[in-house]
Amino acid sequence: MRIEQDFSLLKYNTFGMKTVARRFVEYSSTAELQQFLRSCSTDEQVFQIGGGSNLLFIHPLFEGTILHSAIKGIEVMDEDEESICLKVGAGVVWDEFVAHVVARGWGGAENLSLIPGEVGASAIQNIGAYGVEAKDIISNVYTIDRNNYSVRVFENSDCNYGYRSSIFKNSLKDQYIVTHVSYRLRKHPKLNLSYGNISAAFGEDEEITLQKVRDHIIRIREQKLPDPKVLGNAGSYFMNPVVSTALFESLKRDYHDIPSYPAEDGIKIPAAWLIQQTGWKGKSLGKAAVYEKQPLVLVNTGDAEAIDVIHLADAVIFAVEEKFSIRLKPEVIYV
Ligand SMILES: Cc1cc2nc3c(=O)[nH]c(=O)nc-3n(C[C@H](O)[C@H](O)[C@H](O)COP(=O)(O)OP(=O)(O)OC[C@H]3O[C@@H](n4cnc5c(N)ncnc54)[C@H](O)[C@@H]3O)c2cc1C
Repeated sequence: MRIEQDFSLLKYNTFGMKTVARRFVEYSSTAELQQFLRSCSTDEQVFQIGGGSNLLFIHPLFEGTILHSAIKGIEVMDEDEESICLKVGAGVVWDEFVAHVVARGWGGAENLSLIPGEVGASAIQNIGAYGVEAKDIISNVYTIDRNNYSVRVFENSDCNYGYRSSIFKNSLKDQYIVTHVSYRLRKHPKLNLSYGNISAAFGEDEEITLQKVRDHIIRIREQKLPDPKVLGNAGSYFMNPVVSTALFESLKRDYHDIPSYPAEDGIKIPAAWLIQQTGWKGKSLGKAAVYEKQPLVLVNTGDAEAIDVIHLADAVIFAVEEKFSIRLKPEVIYV
């Protein structure tokens, strides 16, 4: 177990905040995690992070312990003619897992290529891109209960997965730490090329492989999204709002080209479009800016503090609400 005092989290958050944690603990096994949790006093603030790619540390000092998983490994659980089930350590970098399965011809994760972060968070966040979500391949989520230190294994159906949401973000928030996730992948892949017109990138008679899909998605993402190593950010800052049919119909009268997608409980409108209409795209406030190529992303233009980012986010939320009567909710988690 690695234990550090007054530890800089600069390399552990893609927004590039210079927060220092009073204590940083990195464990390499389930047993080490249980041992650490047993030793903690009940009033100590303990927060588990992954790669810090969806977080905004709001204070320069975190007065507590930041936990990080170094549980690695990809293990075959079972396989048959059709599929293979892999149990993966929460500390494995998500995109390394995707590269691993794509290289072996196992399908299901390829559309989620290049999403930053680690395997543990994929099961908390239900990460998604290009028409696929982690829930489509997650089999089980292996956890430790923070209250009694016991192991609990969740089935996919126990996790209440929805758009960027799970039971771990709602009724069981901060109660379980993910140690491993198992994913079931197809040995005879069914490609999902409908979203964003991925298929248009390939010739009519071309044989489309998992690797080609992965490479194409990596190319698009590199063009569209800022590289956190160059420009700090946490991906989409806001969730895409879901509105009532009545509100959508009234907006459509004024904005004929408003894009929309059907959602379970209403109509989803891309937050990027709403922000673009307010004129905030590419604009900055203090040391934070709305990214010029994708207005859903807020960026640290250099040495920004969390307050710069929050002021900008508030200004964008205000502008969208004033124009459309829709209140955007941050997807980024404030710590
Ligand atoms: C450039 C960029 C592009 C992005 N694109 C996408 C995208 O296309 N789709 C998408 O869905 N997301 C995207 N994201 C957001 C981000 O990559 C995901 O939310 C990712 O799952 C976060 O993983 P992480 O390991 O960095 O988790 P963190 O940001 O460190 O943590 C996120 C949450 O998970 C919890 N957590 C992390 N690990 C564990 C664990 N082991 N046990 C319990 N809780 C845990 C944390 O407490 C926190 O609540 C993007 C981010 C960036 C910077």
